[in-house]
Amino acid sequence: MSNKCRNLGLIVLILGIIGSFIMAYTIGKNISEIGWIIGGVILIGGCFSSYVGFIRLEATAEILDNQDIIFQAISNLEEEVVDVDKVPQGYWKCSCGNLNPANTGTCSCGKRKPAL
Ligand SMILES: [Zn+2]
Repeated sequence: MSNKCRNLGLIVLILGIIGSFIMAYTIGKNISEIGWIIGGVILIGGCFSSYVGFIRLEATAEILDNQDIIFQAISNLEEEVVDVDKVPQGYWKCSCGNLNPANTGTCSCGKRKPAL
């Protein structure tokens, strides 16, 4: 999605600049005396608003990228919490999967509590 945003931003910028040139030239040449001033204003205004559109889409792409990083970090955090919950405090987990109280040294399967 962020790549689509970046591509769209470039299209807005390039088409906007080309469009500004065409508009400035077409409108400017039809007005005799101050045509070059009006053409220049249209050109600068058109290029500037195209650039603003480009920056907005670029910023949106960056926000989407950062959001992915944050979501990834949150899901890693949740996995860690789940891992801690697997073996409650005061218990040890045998290799067979049984949970045993910390004060017992041998699991019901016969295996001994691993040394810490
Ligand atoms: Zn066991």
